[in-house]
Formats: sequence, structure tokens, C-alpha cells
Amino acid sequence: MEILKSIDSVRKFIANQKLKQNNIGFVPTMGALHEGHLQLVKNSLQNNDTTIVSIYVNPTQFNNIADFNNYPNTLSNDKILLKKVGCDALFLPDSDEIYPNKNNLSFNFRYLETIMEGKFRTGHFSSVALIISKLFNIVQPDKAYFGEKDLQQLVIIKKLTKDLLFNIEIIGMPIIREPSGLAMSSRNMRLSNTQSLLATNIFKGLTLAKKLMTKENKISVVKEKTELYFSNFKGLYLEYIEYVDFYSFTPLTDDHQKNNLKQKVSICIAAFIDDIRLIDNISFTI
Ligand code: AMP
Repeated sequence: MEILKSIDSVRKFIANQKLKQNNIGFVPTMGALHEGHLQLVKNSLQNNDTTIVSIYVNPTQFNNIADFNNYPNTLSNDKILLKKVGCDALFLPDSDEIYPNKNNLSFNFRYLETIMEGKFRTGHFSSVALIISKLFNIVQPDKAYFGEKDLQQLVIIKKLTKDLLFNIEIIGMPIIREPSGLAMSSRNMRLSNTQSLLATNIFKGLTLAKKLMTKENKISVVKEKTELYFSNFKGLYLEYIEYVDFYSFTPLTDDHQKNNLKQKVSICIAAFIDDIRLIDNISFTI
């Protein structure tokens, strides 16, 4: 596996691959890799001649400095995992080269900035869009892989790719979970055993909400019952739980079932356990 640290070395590597008419799959990550990341890499390996992964904890997308400082770094293990699955190249961007000047461009995703991650992490998606645009520009892949774990981010990246006319196919992959149901996340490394057990109630709550949606006619009743469920857990604080259309992210209303048969919907959660922020979602057709 090639380890590429400069933009120039990536461009040379990619040019060489394109000369051989190899198509390129790209998986951007922030490292501390787990099976959720590896499924993206494996999928890329299956469907492209060459797979390149990036590991970069992008400082500008953290609106909480402690979250950035505490973000796990397991680079030597990440390299072992990537080599083992057969990844071709690992790009480790350097901040000085990625951000040559301080006045960064910003993006405005309008409605998507007003809900869920957009609402609670001001400026986050602008920074995500900027780093992804930079990485797309450097790597110029044919396909790029993202997880539905960050569902709103996936919608943002699809929009970014379309609006900026990147000639890249965006592939979304399902959420990989621990046997307990907890969505895999690099931040899970920070949970104690007790906290990890408490965190399993996030997916349990989502599963309950999904079940309620098939039984109850009114979304307000589903919301009430789910919130009651979550109020049982001391130490698990819900930042938001939203019921939205899978594609547009518009909130579901009380008469969603009457109006939209066979609508694909998502229930999305952000929750805190101590200072550890976890997100999860469940998507299904009603
Ligand atoms: P991150 O390193 O957290 O920025 O994640 C890099 C990519 O992996 C993103 O596209 C995430 O959505 C995806 N990802 C992270 N965790 C999971 C998971 N449990 N299942 C599926 N995809 C995931």
C-alpha cells in the first residue's frame, strides 16, 4: 500500500493509474477505522481497479474544540487494517498544504443547514463540503463511498457533487452495527463499558419508533411515546430526534400516512453520553 503525504504525490499516483486506464474508488475518512469504514473500502475494492483511502481529521468541521482534541487517533492500526483488505493507497493530507490560507470559502446548503446536524453544528456542513471538494479535486475519483451513518452528510455530498459538476458517482452504504445494535463509530472508543451499554438504547429507541410508525396514525403520538422511552435513561441526553422524508429531509407531519403511501422515511438521532456525541438513524418505507 502506497502512503501518500503530499498533494503532488497523490496527483502523480492517480495520473499513473489513469494512464493504465484504471478507474479510481475513493473513501474519505477521519481514521480510527472500524468495520463501518472497511465495508466502504471493501466495496470500492470490488468495484474499482484502484482504491485510495484518505485519513484526515479535518479541524475546521469541529465546532467543539474538545471533540476535536479527543478524536481518537489509531493510525498504525488503521494502516494494518487497510493493508489487510488490500487497499492500494492511503492519503494522509497535511493541514498546511490543504489550507494554504486562513480565509476559507464557505458553502450554504440552505434548508439542510436549519435541521439536525446543520442546526446543532453551525458551519459543520460548510467545512465538510470544503474539505470534500478539495479531496475530490486532488483525487479525481470515479466513485466515492460514504456511509448512511452520516445520512445528512450523504445528502449534502450528493448535492455538492451535482451542483459543482464533479464527475464522480457517490455511493451510499448501509450502517454497520455492533452485535448490541450500537452503530459503529470512532467515538465509541471513548465510551466506558457502562456507557456503551447505555448507548445501545439509541438503536433500541429507533427500532421502537419504527415499530410505532407502522402502528400509529399520528406522528405526534409516535414522538410522544418515543420521547417517553428515552426519558427512562439517566445519562443519555437526546439533542434531537427527527422524523423526516429520506430524500428531502422535510419533517413528517401527522397525516404523512394518508398522503404518502410507500414513502421512504428516516428517523435521525443525536445523543450525548457525558460529552460524547453519538448519531444514528434508521430508514424504511412506510
Ligand atoms: P468518519 O471517519 O467518521 O468521517 O467516517 C468516514 C466514512 O465512514 C463516512 O462516510 C461515514 O458515514 C462512514 N461510516 C462511519 N461509521 C459507519 C458505520 N457504522 N456504518 C457505515 N458507514 C460508516
